[in-house]
Amino acid sequence: MEYLPLFAIVFIYALIGVFGLCVGSFINVVISRLPIKGAFLSSNRSQCPGCGETLSPIELVPVLSWLMLKGRCKHCNRRISPRYPIVELLGALFAVTCFWYYGINHLAPTVYIVLMILLAVTIIDFNTSEIPDSLILALIIPTAAAIIWLPDISSISHIIGLFSVALPMLIVSLIIPGAFGGGDIKLIAICGLMLGWQLTLAAFFIAILLGGGTAVYLMVSGRRKRGQHIVFGPALCAGVAVSIFFGQQLIDWYLSLFFY
Ligand SMILES: [Zn+2]
Repeated sequence: MEYLPLFAIVFIYALIGVFGLCVGSFINVVISRLPIKGAFLSSNRSQCPGCGETLSPIELVPVLSWLMLKGRCKHCNRRISPRYPIVELLGALFAVTCFWYYGINHLAPTVYIVLMILLAVTIIDFNTSEIPDSLILALIIPTAAAIIWLPDISSISHIIGLFSVALPMLIVSLIIPGAFGGGDIKLIAICGLMLGWQLTLAAFFIAILLGGGTAVYLMVSGRRKRGQHIVFGPALCAGVAVSIFFGQQLIDWYLSLFFY
């Protein structure tokens, strides 16, 4: 893109940002409806969960509607969660980041799809302590693409990745019931197939650090009682996302501590 004039580059990034806002808006619908049986496929227009009023197109503009309405429903004044504009902004931020990092090629949309599915998984798991199977199934598409398009990762690595973390997690869960959720195990299995075993191990260590750190913080700050369940899905999603971008650097750095 270096040969393009600056305004053209800014225009392309702006377009990608707007596209990302719209994808974020769709992910909000997924987050709201997927956990409710049958709601996702219904053709009902979006409604206010407070008063049931159908929202007009002007109330559905990403980010701007929330700002204009000052985060409240126009009809019943009920508070609208800041989750809506935040997910929309993340949709834009991830789109611009993928495009900037990978350039104009097939990897940018592939990684973007993965990040947006992981974002939906993170918030749904956080809200409901469940990871919908449909989102795990949706990851099969970018996983197939990754297997075809990532020549650095061997087929053997992809296949070992399927089991490398998921199998130990399954065994631990069989010994200590409830140690990990079934959704967490399925999630890391499909992500392992996508990333190969090296990046999957990196993702898991990042998740353990994040999840463990959060658990210790919540316990020390008194927000969580001992024995209370904390969801691991969001930490896994963050670990996978970080590993996609920085996993190889982390592995190289870690190995350099032992081999000069
Ligand atoms: Zn309302």
